[in-house]
Amino acid sequence: MPYVRRRFAALTAALAMTVTSGAAISPAYADPRETEKTATATGYGGAVSTVDPEASAAAIEVLREGGNAADAAVAAAATLGVTEPYSAGIGGGGYFVFYNAKTGRVGTIDGRETAPAAMPRDAFIDPTTGKPYNFTPELVTSGISVGVPGTPATWERALKRWGTLDLDDALEPAIEVADRGFVVDETFRQQTLDNKIRFEAFTSTSELFLPGGDAPAVGSVFKNPDLAKTYRILSNQGTRGFYHGPLAEEIAATVQTPPKTARTTLPVPAGHMTTADLAAYTALDQAPTQVEYRGLDVYGMAPSSSGGTTVGEALNILDTFNVSEMSTPDALHHYLEASALAFADRGKYLGDPAFVDVPTAALTDPLFGKERSCRIDPKRAAAKPVAPGDVSNYDGVCPASAAAPADEKDTENISTTNLTVADQWGNVVEYTLTIEQTGGSGIVVPDRGFLLNNELTDFSTVYDPQDPNRIEPEKRPRSSMSPTIILKDGEPFLALGSPGGSTIITTVLQTILNRVDLGMSISEAVAAPRAAQRNAAKVTAEPAFITAYERQLKRYGHQLMPAGDAFTSAAEIGAATAIEFERDGRMVAAAEPVRRGGGSAMVVNPSR
Ligand code: GLU
Repeated sequence: MPYVRRRFAALTAALAMTVTSGAAISPAYADPRETEKTATATGYGGAVSTVDPEASAAAIEVLREGGNAADAAVAAAATLGVTEPYSAGIGGGGYFVFYNAKTGRVGTIDGRETAPAAMPRDAFIDPTTGKPYNFTPELVTSGISVGVPGTPATWERALKRWGTLDLDDALEPAIEVADRGFVVDETFRQQTLDNKIRFEAFTSTSELFLPGGDAPAVGSVFKNPDLAKTYRILSNQGTRGFYHGPLAEEIAATVQTPPKTARTTLPVPAGHMTTADLAAYTALDQAPTQVEYRGLDVYGMAPSSSGGTTVGEALNILDTFNVSEMSTPDALHHYLEASALAFADRGKYLGDPAFVDVPTAALTDPLFGKERSCRIDPKRAAAKPVAPGDVSNYDGVCPASAAAPADEKDTENISTTNLTVADQWGNVVEYTLTIEQTGGSGIVVPDRGFLLNNELTDFSTVYDPQDPNRIEPEKRPRSSMSPTIILKDGEPFLALGSPGGSTIITTVLQTILNRVDLGMSISEAVAAPRAAQRNAAKVTAEPAFITAYERQLKRYGHQLMPAGDAFTSAAEIGAATAIEFERDGRMVAAAEPVRRGGGSAMVVNPSR
């Protein structure tokens, strides 16, 4: 079924006149329809929100041709693998949440990366010194941190379980974009520059993303014929062509012997992945987490992600307060404190449930939330870190104070991408996918056009046998991804998610608070300045949040500091996408107006 071929044919022909070969050639400008960004779109018959207009266009095309939300989500995700290669792609993993209009039920797929069977518990210790590797650059740019990718298996499973298309049809729009190229924007160029030293460390990566030694110019067209070829392997052979055979052999070889350039000074520790690890990979069907918030049913991602339990617990805590009647500073104070408490429990209890006992039911129990809410002083921020609660012993009654634990090191990075899709039948997808930090491990599989993840850096970096997120062979590292679908009276009300490492949790939480309690529209809720309290001494916040609320929040004892880290040039938190469903069938698709250069919301029909 040639979804986008007709639409893009003229464009591809036009580009062939100006683009001769290789990656970025300037100047050739693509169809403005595909590069124009709209942050809010309202209408009927289906909707999509992603960070990128090409990906949103792919989803809309699939929806217009009669595909459903699962089909469109895979098409959009595969296109993001082309246009957002530093955040998403077949070298990574993610979590796919689906509301099935026919059954009225929410199901999820855990497509998280897994640790290789030979990953030792001291994988993050340098054997030459006996000391822990530095997180940067050793761990982030390494084979050690590459987990077995889950994204191809997730796409295949999602289509089989809920879709109507085969993988080859769903990949078609992405193959088109990879072949004909997309227009480089500021964000893509800046992300490439931010990664220049890492990308220069590998022959394969510098060839693809640093043609002529520089990041592709803004306005030039970036093609990825290698990725188009790799996608065709998936089209023709299904995921067998990825997890078995030559491609699997090349992935394992790349992890074990990263293709380093002669001149790099980066250490690049080698990894342990084998073809057997790839062959063993399975994307898992999981029951969602569920909590009730202000009468709404909030469904999230169960462990191995900490998203569903942490967002859920914080909502249970907030549900015990009348936030909508509070002043804005009071409401924000309660939001920050609830988040800190939920993060304390995340640190203590969350890991891969196949390896550790995760008390998901207790963490999402309203009674536990009620007991945790006792820790919030309405006028005073608690000293951080706050102590975790006791999931084995709670009754909703305020307990005596517990001792505070040590500050937990937060080493999650802020890449990833998220998309929201709904179709004419009322099915909804919320999907967050990632290769971990922007640029993943920095390692492109030679001639295959995609980057490998560095997701295993999401394991705790120091091995502690009590830690639920300690390294173990074949385990999934704890994630923060929080794709969320909210029902009202059994019908979709809101679907949302975001990238941003552990600030994914706070972004989703704050956006729900903004929309449900603080009277904002979904577009305003997405755009509003953000702050993240992750049980640390300081609240990280965007500059606009600091300007607006620092003085007021100081009175409670909150200390704000600007967001942003060594890896990124922007002081942004998250890059959310959302769709709200109105009673008459109207959908409001919301994307970021500014963050990450702005996202792209589209609908199938602007009017009925
Ligand atoms: N690795 C992170 C997680 O799974 C996501 C990375 C990001 O959002 O930047 O939670």
